[in-house]
Amino acid sequence: MAKNSRGRRPCSICRKWFTPDVRQKGRQKTCRSACQKELHRRQCEKWNRKNKAVCKNNYLAKKLEEAEEQQTSGNLPSLSYQKQTKPVLPMEVIIAEYGIKPAIIIQYLVTQVISHNNEKIQGFP
Ligand SMILES: [Zn+2]
Repeated sequence: MAKNSRGRRPCSICRKWFTPDVRQKGRQKTCRSACQKELHRRQCEKWNRKNKAVCKNNYLAKKLEEAEEQQTSGNLPSLSYQKQTKPVLPMEVIIAEYGIKPAIIIQYLVTQVISHNNEKIQGFP
């Protein structure tokens, strides 16, 4: 790296050149605290978005895994232990037609769409 810790560098937010504080030993990426805050906000936003997606993926993956375990252990896939919330889907028919995994995905997607709509409705009282 051709980085001089005492040299000037561009701020990663406003792109203005600045001289980093010597006490920060080259870790400083922004010229002033406002830019520092902005950088932090952007990083958090990015992290949150990514994490939300990871969380959702894990949730669905876990459900599919559970269903597979049930199937391989010879038990009939049963969704009856799950709380069927508002969209009561004809799960038995869907499972019979498509199989347990697509059924879970369908259930998941429907739940997502409905909760998304509910959020919207709550936003406009
Ligand atoms: Zn800046």
